[in-house]
Amino acid sequence: MSRDRIIAEAEGVVQDLAAAITAPRDRECLPCYLDRVLHEVSCDGTHALTRHYRDSTAPAATALLQRLSRAGGHCDCEVLFNVYWATSDHVRSCEGVRLGSTQPCDLWFRRRRRMW
Ligand SMILES: [Zn+2]
Ligand SMILES: [Zn+2]
Repeated sequence: MSRDRIIAEAEGVVQDLAAAITAPRDRECLPCYLDRVLHEVSCDGTHALTRHYRDSTAPAATALLQRLSRAGGHCDCEVLFNVYWATSDHVRSCEGVRLGSTQPCDLWFRRRRRMW
């Protein structure tokens, strides 16, 4: 096997791993998704993960990023810091939301209801 091919295969593995981590789980809500993935990858200062979640689960929610930004979530980590608060410090897995919904599950509440 050539060196280039080995490198290409290694990169493929890393990409598969990244795809497995950043893929939203079945009925996982947005803040649970961000909370889980941001333990594995660091925020790059954009809504890359939120956009990925939106595209994967709720492509019709075109105003989601603007709504989150207005509520103080100007990037993926700020969405967790500024928009959604956990209802408990106890780490639990997502309780699940309706497919296509961008609402949080019962583990979270939104800080500023009027923004929504
Ligand atoms: Zn951030
Ligand atoms: Zn959840």
